[in-house]
Amino acid sequence: MLRDNFGREFHYLRLSITDVCNFRCNYCLPDGYEGKPDQAFLSLDEIRRVCAAFGAAGTRKIRITGGEPSVRKDLPEIIRTVKATPGIEKVAITTNGYRLPEVVDEWADAGLDALNLSIDSLDPGVFKAITGHSRLHELLDGLDRAIALGIASIKVNAVMLRGLNDKQLAPFLDWIKNKPITLRFIELMQTGDNSEFFAKHHVAGEQLRQWLLANGWIQTIRAVDAGPAQEFYHENYQGRIGLIMPYSKDFCSTCNRLRMDSTGKLHLCLFSDTGIDVRPLLQSDEQRDELIEFLQNQLLDKKVSHFLQDGQSGGTRHLAMIGG
Ligand code: SAM
Ligand code: SF4
Repeated sequence: MLRDNFGREFHYLRLSITDVCNFRCNYCLPDGYEGKPDQAFLSLDEIRRVCAAFGAAGTRKIRITGGEPSVRKDLPEIIRTVKATPGIEKVAITTNGYRLPEVVDEWADAGLDALNLSIDSLDPGVFKAITGHSRLHELLDGLDRAIALGIASIKVNAVMLRGLNDKQLAPFLDWIKNKPITLRFIELMQTGDNSEFFAKHHVAGEQLRQWLLANGWIQTIRAVDAGPAQEFYHENYQGRIGLIMPYSKDFCSTCNRLRMDSTGKLHLCLFSDTGIDVRPLLQSDEQRDELIEFLQNQLLDKKVSHFLQDGQSGGTRHLAMIGG
């Protein structure tokens, strides 16, 4: 089992397969993707070796993310490869839902267990103002299709943004009344590129947490491979609510996840200063044990917490570059 100096165990890997994105979310890539699309992202073989090493070292869940993972044409093969890895019990994806109704059947067929879809607003105008796209209907259709296909875990991510979507709790609550999904409200995080936006739009989740508890929502107990959200259920709602509050005290004490970016750099934290290049250890299947030993040694340098509350976001300019 991968373990750090603070007794935290790492059951969960977030694997970015590209940093390219076709949306322009105003908190992430307001001017669109500006990198080099010809960058050599991890190949399918390299991805297979990453998964094999993590799976052998006790990782149980892998989330495929980006950038926008669906821009890669070989995504169904990637899902299939992750799913086939010994030790990996759950393969998940985080996506902006681009062309979801057309592609979700193929993802389910490849073995996808969990889908996280980003929907910051149910109002088409607000959705467009935030993401730069008017594809809300497509996302909602894709979500219904994913439910119909029986994908085991379906979550919707909504970043809370003051002055943009912070008055839209009522439509969101109505929406999950009869939908078997978890709607997760995420506190906006400050990154290298979004300081001004952050100062204007950040809202703390604590007020919402208090409101939920005062209105019949009950907090659940956390699973070992769970994400960072506190989850709540209510007897009158089929859907659940999640709250991700990275600025809250002790957020990092339950950290159980590591990240690999799309060019093979290991990130011990979403807000670390640099990534650690493991690509040279991904060149043959025989290097698996060497890679596991390397990972375990690197983990001894993992810090107890991020320093976001001090306004320090490390080397992370935006989350698309590592995979949120
Ligand atoms: N493109 C995919 C998507 O948007 O779902 C996957 C990558 S995106 C970086 C992953 C998640 O991070 C999305 O739910 C997005 O809303 C969230 N995110 C991006 N930047 C953020 C920030 N500065 N603070 C909080 N959440 C952020
Ligand atoms: Fe793209 Fe996701 Fe960033 Fe939006 S949050 S710009 S969809 S990577």
